[in-house]
Amino acid sequence: MRCPYDPKPLLGLPMGMLHCPLCGEMIVAGMEHPEYGLLDEEREIMGRVMDRALENKFEQLAERALTEARKIKCDLQDYAEGLLVMINTIQEEYTATCEELSSEG
Ligand SMILES: [Zn+2]
Repeated sequence: MRCPYDPKPLLGLPMGMLHCPLCGEMIVAGMEHPEYGLLDEEREIMGRVMDRALENKFEQLAERALTEARKIKCDLQDYAEGLLVMINTIQEEYTATCEELSSEG
């Protein structure tokens, strides 16, 4: 019997080579599953293992995405604060220069 797990929908996910959550054979995300036999009994057990493994994988991915999003938010805040400081400095310099010029004139 052929392993029913299809790694093709994983195309584009940052997984690369992984063990098939159903049969344990090495598979590549997005590629055809290599031929590999499974007993009905094994299939049932591995089905449950697969559900669990996918659940964990998606939790990991979601957590990583959240961490990245928080980091990007912090970076943007730092960047915006930096810009404000820069704008204030330019405004102060501009005002000072204007005053200098008008007192000279
Ligand atoms: Zn498999």
